[in-house]
This record gives sequence, C-alpha cells and structure tokens, in this order.
Amino acid sequence: MTIAGKKVRKLGRGYHLREYKELTNKKQIERLPLPDEGVIPLLQHLGETAEPTVPVGERVHPGQPIGNLDQYWSAPVHSSVAGTVTAIEPRLTDSGYEVNSVVIAVDKERSEFYPPIQRDHRPMQVDELKEAIRWAGAVGMGGGACPTYINVNLDEPVETLVLNGAECEPFLTCDQRQMLEYADELIGGAEIMMRVIGATKCYIGIEVNKADAIEVLAGRLNGRADIEVVPLQTKYPMGYKKNIIKAVTGRTPPQGARSSEVGCIVKNIGTAITTFNSVVYGKSCFERVVTVSGPGTVRRPGNYLVKVGTPIGHILEHVGVDTGSLAGHKVIMGGPMTGAAQMSLDVPVIKKTTGILVMPPSHVESQDTANPAPCIRCGKCAEHCPIYLNPGLLSVFAERGDYPTAADWKLDQCAECGICSYVCPSRRPVTQLLLKAKPEVKRIVKERRRRARARG
Ligand code: SF4
Ligand code: SF4
Repeated sequence: MTIAGKKVRKLGRGYHLREYKELTNKKQIERLPLPDEGVIPLLQHLGETAEPTVPVGERVHPGQPIGNLDQYWSAPVHSSVAGTVTAIEPRLTDSGYEVNSVVIAVDKERSEFYPPIQRDHRPMQVDELKEAIRWAGAVGMGGGACPTYINVNLDEPVETLVLNGAECEPFLTCDQRQMLEYADELIGGAEIMMRVIGATKCYIGIEVNKADAIEVLAGRLNGRADIEVVPLQTKYPMGYKKNIIKAVTGRTPPQGARSSEVGCIVKNIGTAITTFNSVVYGKSCFERVVTVSGPGTVRRPGNYLVKVGTPIGHILEHVGVDTGSLAGHKVIMGGPMTGAAQMSLDVPVIKKTTGILVMPPSHVESQDTANPAPCIRCGKCAEHCPIYLNPGLLSVFAERGDYPTAADWKLDQCAECGICSYVCPSRRPVTQLLLKAKPEVKRIVKERRRRARARG
C-alpha cells in the first residue's frame, strides 16, 4: 500500500484499537479563554524541581522565567500569563503528587504574548540554537517530558532525526492538527534540530489515519531529500520510540540501548514546533495544544491552545462538561492507554499534557489492583505485546515480589503501553503490576550491568 506516493511501513506486534479520532480531528485549534488563577508547577519534566525565581507579590508577564535550577537535569519554567504571584506552595499535579508551584492571579487584559524577537535561524551558530532551546524550557511534548536541551546536547553527531507524528493513542488529535496548521513551523523546527544534533536526514513518521497531514507535509516538502514524510500503519503502539525507529529506518535498537546508539534521535512533532518558536520568536514553552474529548460527555470536543497552569476543571467547563455530574466518570490526562486518571479537577495542564479525556461509566472498566484477578494463562497478552515479552508470566513474578526472575525475563524492557491489561480476558491489572515492579527490576538490571563491567 502507498500513500502520497510512499510505501506504508508496518508494525510487527501491537493492537488495532478503536480510534475515536473522528470526534476532534476536523476541529481547528482554538484558543481557550484564560482561567482566573494559574498554577504552574516547578517540576514538569524528568529531573529536578526548579527553584522559584520570583517572590510572592511579583507582577509577571507571559514568557517570563519564574523558576530555574542550575543543574543539568532540569528545565526552566516560565509564566504563561500576566498577573500577580499570590503563593508559592505545593499543589497537586497529574502525577498524583504535590509539587511546589507558582500560583498566579491572572490579569486577563495583559496576558497576550508579544514575541520579543523575530529572526532567521539559518545563520545562527549551533551554540546559539542550543542556548535558545535551553532557555525556552521545552520538554518532550508527546508526553515524555525529557528536557529537549538534554536530548539535543550530544557529544557526537547523530545522523538521523525521527520526528514522531504517529499519535497512535485513541482520541488524541492534537499532533494531527498541529501538523496541518503549523506545517511550516514543524519543518523549521526539524531544520533547527537537525543542525543541532548534526543529522543529515529527518524522517517524519505519521500513521495513515492522518492522511491529510501526510499530504500537507509531503506537499510542503515538495520532494526535499533531507526531510521526508514516512506513512506508517495505524497500529498501537507505533509511536513507541523503538517501534517508530524500526518502521522508518529499519534499524532495531538492541535491548537496553539508547536510540542514539543506532544513530537516531526521536522527538515528538510538537517538540519541533516548540523549538522553532523558541529560536525564531523567543517564545518559551508556556502553552500547548491539548485534545479535549470523550464519548458523549464533552459537548464541544476539540483541540485547544491552553496555557500551562490552567486547571482542568476550567477547561472542562469551557467545553460544556457539567463538572458537578461526573460521578462514575474517569477524567484522564494524556491518552486512554498511557494517561493517568485524575483525583481532582484542580490539577493544572503542564508542558507534556497531550489530552484531557472524560470517560463515561460505559467506557470505564475497573481492574482490582489490590486483589488482582488470576492469570488464566490464555497467552493473549504475549500474542500482542509489542516488545515480545510474556506479560502474564511477568505479572506473576511481580505479584510475588520475585524481582530477580522478573529481571531475567526482561520486565525492565516493558514499554508501558497498556495492551496486556487491555486484552486480558481475566481483567487482570497486568500493566499496573509490571509498573509497580519496574523501578526495583531496573535497579537489579543496573546493578548486574555494573558488576559485569567490573568483572571486565
Ligand atoms: S508488557 Fe509492557 S510492553 Fe508488553 S504489552 Fe504489557 S505494557 Fe505493553
Ligand atoms: S491475557 Fe491475562 S489471563 Fe491471559 S495470559 Fe495474559 S495475564 Fe494471563
């Protein structure tokens, strides 16, 4: 099969999920009205929490740095709005933990962002590009949340940049709309990232259920040899890093290896767009496109440009959800397979928030994690696991606390895709059991590697 004259690349194992993308994929990106209060967590990335750089009482403006930490594994945090800092205190975040946050009473009249610069990125030196990326505080916008600066600040050049436009989780269409509406920014971001990492080739991998985005980008690239759109089979989890590398380049990263070891860096398309805006317009990472959707309950599902720090309750009210009648519903931040159900509607959108989904009781299936249902050894989970693991068996080791055996059977390689829980006829919370065991299993694997190195 071909699309836009290009062969569609396939994924080995995985699952064809019902997509639900038709709820929002034709809806143009709309700006969401501002909340009265913004809550901006000082930890929105992998790494250390930033320190506040503004005191309570300070008047701030959009794009102004409000948090920073002089450590490599951190990212600066910026205000998304104009207003007055009313508190700096722990607030609940999507992780389920409280994080020190800057609370701002929003001045809606002054909250428009005016780009302080507009410049051509092409004559800029690589160090200047890197500094602009670091300053902007961008993180993996597909949900990974690794500081972009760390990903692109390499000792050795990497020949291939893979931009991930697979967007393989159901409901989410924010990447599709960005590829359609911000195509020039995406291509500009790809050019900047290629220069920074020393890549000579960029592939933009897009699942074929986004044929409009494939056509638009292929048309805009007009046969360019250095940046190429690659159509991908629609199958979950095509967007998992190792899967997309294999699909677009044919390379298979060895287990436990970093993608750079097979000459690739993978970034989400939203990260490339954010990179372009930070370098060209001096716009820090303080707003993003979020898909707000769900079957039945959301009256105006769509893709909204949302300021970081906006409470999800404010967003749901704007899209016509009766937030007083959500008993039995689940509100999920992220996609339905890898996202997290939320305990409070006060939780704010952060840099990595791809979606806010309201799932009615008919779509909520509970799996008892305290007393997991037994594994009936049907083998369905192993049949679909994209990493070729045996999730059922691993879940038994995890439940028993037998972490060394789970390490022997490579639990640390789990992609956390959720397919094993999804397909399990016993309704066993397989993924949750594996996630709980994973940190200890990873520690064991790391220790084994250290000992093996010491033995030479
Ligand atoms: S074991 Fe991990 S990678 Fe395999 S299906 Fe389950 S969650 Fe996905
Ligand atoms: S799908 Fe469920 S019951 Fe079947 S092997 Fe996997 S964990 Fe066991």
